[in-house]
Amino acid sequence: MTIKDLKNHALADNIPIIQDDALNYIKDLINKKSIKNILEIGTAYGYSAISFSSDKTHVDTLERDQKRLKEAVIWVNKLKANVNVYNTDALEFIPDKTYDMIFIDGAKAQYKKFFLRYQKYLNPNGIIVCDNIDFHDLKIEEVKNRGTKSLLKRLAEFKIFLESNTEFETMFLKYGDGLSISVHKT
Ligand code: SAM
Repeated sequence: MTIKDLKNHALADNIPIIQDDALNYIKDLINKKSIKNILEIGTAYGYSAISFSSDKTHVDTLERDQKRLKEAVIWVNKLKANVNVYNTDALEFIPDKTYDMIFIDGAKAQYKKFFLRYQKYLNPNGIIVCDNIDFHDLKIEEVKNRGTKSLLKRLAEFKIFLESNTEFETMFLKYGDGLSISVHKT
């Protein structure tokens, strides 16, 4: 069994997983910045968490959905990955340590709440990475569904929050469905 088998399994089950170019960019960042520990919000089947992990990099990852969590635990064990999976709502979890990187990939409407909740668990010079920041490049005015409209509004507000945040320097990248990389100014 390999990480490719996990990717195929997740895709076959219609589980949304990180896109290849975004994943490769983050893996490069992990290497270049010698990131040793990561907190991930939104495990799904564990594809991104396991991909980020190595002998040198530990990942703690949070998932509230029982079924997905069970799959993730099975794959972490199968692939002997340096990952701990926590069955918890990320809006309630309290870490007992700090991290070099926080990867936000949970409910899109909650990104600002996740950011504010976890920024204090970041090591000096740590980074917060958010996935799906462009959400399929959908435009609010072109969308009819009220739920999607509201989600796009929340993501737009989150982007403004990042741009105006004086504690972090943020860049927005066109990898995958859009990535934001926020570096803590310390
Ligand atoms: N990071 C995964 C990957 O690329 O392989 C994909 C994660 S998927 C896009 C988002 C996951 O976040 C879902 O499985 C969902 O159940 C979980 N999630 C959403 N909001 C959450 C929350 N507040 N706490 C914990 N998990 C959450």
